[in-house]
Amino acid sequence: MTDAREVRTACPYCGVGCGVQARVAADGTTSVRGDPGHPANFGKLCSKGSALGETLGLDGRVLHPEVAGRRASWEDALDLVAQRFSETIAQHGPDSVAFYVSGQLLTEDYYVANKLMKGFIGSANIDTNSRLCMASSVAGHKRAFGEDIVPGVYEDFEQADLVVLVGSNTAWCHPILYQRLLAARAERGTRIVVIDPRRTATAMECDLHLQLKPGTDVLLFNGLLAHLANTGAADQAYVTAHTLGFEAALSLAAADAPSVKRVAEGCDLAPAEVAAFYDRFAATERTVTVYSQGVNQSAHGTDKVNAIINCHLATGRIGRPGMGPFSVTGQPNAMGGREVGGLANQLAAHMGFDDPSAPDRVGRFWATPAIARKPGLKAVDMFEATGDGRIKALWIMGTNPAVSMPDAGKVRAALKSCDFVVVSDVTRTDTSHFANVLLPAAAWGEKDGTVTNSERRISRQKSFLPMPGEVRPDWWIVAETARRMGFAAAFDYANPAAIFREHAALSAFENDGGRLFDIGGLADLTDAEYEALAPLHWPLPSDASAGVQRLLGDGRFPTADGRARFVPVRQEGAALPVDAAFPLVLNTGRLRDQWHTMTRTGRVPRLMANAPEPAIELNAADAVALGIADGDLVRIESRYGGARAKAVTSPGQRKGEAFLPMHWSGRFAANASAGSLSAPVTDPFSGQPELKHVPVRISRE
Ligand code: SF4
Repeated sequence: MTDAREVRTACPYCGVGCGVQARVAADGTTSVRGDPGHPANFGKLCSKGSALGETLGLDGRVLHPEVAGRRASWEDALDLVAQRFSETIAQHGPDSVAFYVSGQLLTEDYYVANKLMKGFIGSANIDTNSRLCMASSVAGHKRAFGEDIVPGVYEDFEQADLVVLVGSNTAWCHPILYQRLLAARAERGTRIVVIDPRRTATAMECDLHLQLKPGTDVLLFNGLLAHLANTGAADQAYVTAHTLGFEAALSLAAADAPSVKRVAEGCDLAPAEVAAFYDRFAATERTVTVYSQGVNQSAHGTDKVNAIINCHLATGRIGRPGMGPFSVTGQPNAMGGREVGGLANQLAAHMGFDDPSAPDRVGRFWATPAIARKPGLKAVDMFEATGDGRIKALWIMGTNPAVSMPDAGKVRAALKSCDFVVVSDVTRTDTSHFANVLLPAAAWGEKDGTVTNSERRISRQKSFLPMPGEVRPDWWIVAETARRMGFAAAFDYANPAAIFREHAALSAFENDGGRLFDIGGLADLTDAEYEALAPLHWPLPSDASAGVQRLLGDGRFPTADGRARFVPVRQEGAALPVDAAFPLVLNTGRLRDQWHTMTRTGRVPRLMANAPEPAIELNAADAVALGIADGDLVRIESRYGGARAKAVTSPGQRKGEAFLPMHWSGRFAANASAGSLSAPVTDPFSGQPELKHVPVRISRE
């Protein structure tokens, strides 16, 4: 019998990126606790993280490759995948195939998939479920800063005097970061303002809750920008020295939001509440504004992000202790995916197609003549193209679009009609039913690589369990397919460390300092150094000895002229307004104890206990008007589909609005999928779908 082993790894759930110590006892049983040495969580874990050890069973796992529903060898399955992708490309061109990947992939997995599609297939048709999570923040950061930069670090939550949480139920969705904030408040009296249409768990503990009308964030922050300028709270010296476009942004903001009264009317708030927020923001230098899915998952998400950033640029509160705009990501490795270029409009290592020299540069590094030269299809467009036959071969890795994509019924029809669908995943899902080839992927605890959390901190995720059955890591599956497609030399990786070194070298390749994402200092790590890599911030260029903490604090931005950009934005109406047929606004989001489509957390009885069945939250007045009582089974219908759930009246819901958790999927409640109700309407800049404002009608069953 061998001795117990302890491995330091990272939680696979949210973007806080907590460190985890997994202990494998001599008898093979596994227990999990927070890693006291990890700088994201200092030993703490939330309800989901602390239950990780209970998710490690083989129930529902895919353990062997399958072709047409029958067990197959890896050789046969991968030969078929390579053959069908190669034939499709030969007959219909590189843009006839696509990969839809996941923020659950490790950076190394993401890198190899992105390299195959963009470097060697020659299409940019690789997009990720992070498109549904934070694409609007990426687009907003690029418009303002010139690069997708989160300037701050988690310490800023603790060093701020004011933290503004916009569209973020931090208490449930980023619990450990929220606990850090509450601990700091207990010490220094931090003021917390929550801007959210729902009275969430976070809103219940704050100093000021602005329960605004959904989708009016731009108006609120335009009013704040005008207020800052009018009251002399703008930092004119900073604006002059480090930015462009202030006058244009201010002019539009002032026209949009000429007074507190007009803002209050538009946002459906009391003028005193709006004034209190504006005065507090103006008077508090150490202010952090946090934004999450309530901002991003919107047909106007990018404008919302820029409306927030405009206020921080106007006050020069960026990248200094306790101040800055701060996007918190939903997934464990949404940031890592952004770093390798896992979005269809990015290329690699924060290089995008908007830089005409980037494709040649990346092509030189990868030594490929087939580099993609134009953006590919973003998630919603990708499934649209799958449905109408433009995409003829689709590979889905580690995600469940059959229930999680908006207009999920149409996505299922698209998957059914597609000539060739490959799914590589850990468990059987609603999506794997559509697979012509199903490939068994390694799960958390079995796979090895890196992830990047919301504060740009790279951590190792390590294996501590053997891979069961014939399970393989995602990077290996993609590299083996690439080899069979004729690209063996470029995908000859011995291990994840080799992939990471290449990723780090690419980040530094021909970088004259114009790109801040540079981890060239990690390009020469030995396998042993990679194995022992301690959590660190990027950037880490080759001449640096430690990762830089905050960015942009010196007022220099990664734009051609070194200045940040104000982006003039205007409050727009709802992309999908309510009407007589669909009179209620449906909002969707997370529960405290569940993760995505519940393929892991749904296995843990204590995580299921708090919300064991699908429930839709309604305002009591709406429930009375509809003849619905607490506990009634109700039917929810939108123009895109229907769902069923139990009605629960909640004082936290505004009148005319309802909330349905996003998690329910086929294994638990097939007909309660929020994705079936949501609209495939997207933000014009980010391509992120509107998941927070869907007109519905609700009736008792
Ligand atoms: Fe995991 Fe997020 Fe909870 Fe930390 S806060 S334990 S990363 S789910």
